[in-house]
Amino acid sequence: MEITAALRNALGPDATLITDPTILPSYSRDQSQIAKNGTPIAVLLAKNESEISAAVKFAYEHNIPVVARGAGSGLSGGANAIDGSLIISLEKMNQIISIDSANLIADVEPGVINLDLDKEVSKFGLAYLPDPASREWSTIGGNVATNAGGMCCVKYGVTSHHVRAVRMVTSDGSVVTLGTALKKSVTNLDLLHLIIGSEGTLGIVTQVTVGLVVRPKPATTLIATFSSIDSAMKAIPELVALGPSMLEVVDSTTLRAVEEWKPLGFENVGTVLLFQSDDSPEVCAKAVTIAERHGAIDATYSDDPRDSADLIQVRKLAYPALERKGAALLDDVCVPISQISNLVTEVEKIAAESGLLIGIFGHAGDGNMHPTIVYEHGDVAAEQRAVQAFNSIIKVAQKLGGTASGEHGIGSIKVDSAKRETSDRVTELQRSIKKVFDPKGILNPGKKIP
Ligand SMILES: Cc1cc2nc3c(=O)[nH]c(=O)nc-3n(C[C@H](O)[C@H](O)[C@H](O)COP(=O)(O)OP(=O)(O)OC[C@H]3O[C@@H](n4cnc5c(N)ncnc54)[C@H](O)[C@@H]3O)c2cc1C
Repeated sequence: MEITAALRNALGPDATLITDPTILPSYSRDQSQIAKNGTPIAVLLAKNESEISAAVKFAYEHNIPVVARGAGSGLSGGANAIDGSLIISLEKMNQIISIDSANLIADVEPGVINLDLDKEVSKFGLAYLPDPASREWSTIGGNVATNAGGMCCVKYGVTSHHVRAVRMVTSDGSVVTLGTALKKSVTNLDLLHLIIGSEGTLGIVTQVTVGLVVRPKPATTLIATFSSIDSAMKAIPELVALGPSMLEVVDSTTLRAVEEWKPLGFENVGTVLLFQSDDSPEVCAKAVTIAERHGAIDATYSDDPRDSADLIQVRKLAYPALERKGAALLDDVCVPISQISNLVTEVEKIAAESGLLIGIFGHAGDGNMHPTIVYEHGDVAAEQRAVQAFNSIIKVAQKLGGTASGEHGIGSIKVDSAKRETSDRVTELQRSIKKVFDPKGILNPGKKIP
């Protein structure tokens, strides 16, 4: 009580500091099913950078852990409260500060919702490209902190390719700007790209300068069905060479779950590939030839935007179709594209051994797959098997030359897994960097960095 009163005092009467124990739980977790969370002492609904600076300075002086929170859509426990922590929620800092169409940049507060930014810049014929599936509710600050990916990454890259600069409150409450609004600058060490993907462990992002592009043309969409994952995957290198703006895969287990719920005509299909090009319909015509050469049962495309929406429906339904069958544990691993079919085969073995339903869908163009483990709600033994399967899938991906996370981040649930693919020296370097930015270790301790 005393510490929160002192914090309230330090922040002043205008600050919104939540200490009501009935409200704190709603700010204490993200969407991860398996990450543990603690109880915070308070949540600051920050209205501006000065409040964040004052709060972090107070936390620094009193050794209070600080957890930044965007929308809480994360899947790795990154935004989960730690016992005795102060949560700094950025949701109220949701203003687009400026759109500079001459220089193709925008300055935004960290709580701006990804899709809101893209909608706003579209009025200028521009686009903010990073498109996580959570873009209707995840924030730019959260996207920066996790280096979020999405479907367009195969052509346009991840969040880090579209961020020019951030303003950030460091662990002692001071404010720095890292990066510049310019497209090119090699003047300083690239600290900006240390912050992107640092999951709130190095500072609290209070403003972001993003790069914009002239809005791409509406995409032409191709759907191809295959009897097996193997033949579909053999087509991938040639399809990638065509420069798709999206290349997604849905496996047979997931297709069955979709069919049970909303039949789309894929009952006897082994794998679906979805391919988009925002260059020209001719690219999709070439993709049909490639898909057929690799044994596609059917391959068809349309440049009508309404048809496109229908064709990608199966991918949009993939996660909800699995989720409605029970508690869904969404994994996120990235493997070389040449290893996707091996990953699918190994995951099928894990499913058979554990007796769990595991559907796989994901970004075939860059190898970032989302095996999704389904188990019965409230079945403790099944949940344990699901967690084991989750970790086994990461091990398999790593054995295939892949990594523990392609886009969802490490948070608290993958720290041990990440350690397996990190040499002792690199771990030491990461810890040293953490010490420089956060000597007292108050920023999101226990997350990301082993
Ligand atoms: C259905 C669903 C689909 C998803 N699809 C994708 C996808 O396609 N691609 C993808 O990459 N992810 C996806 N995600 C995961 C998630 O949406 C992303 O990780 C997203 O970037 C998190 O944003 P957020 O605002 O919700 O951040 P939060 O979940 O609130 O926080 C995430 C991390 O960022 C830190 N953080 C947040 N804001 C700041 C800040 N201002 N400064 C410093 N640190 C901060 C937090 O401490 C935490 O470590 C999906 C999640 C769901 C539930």
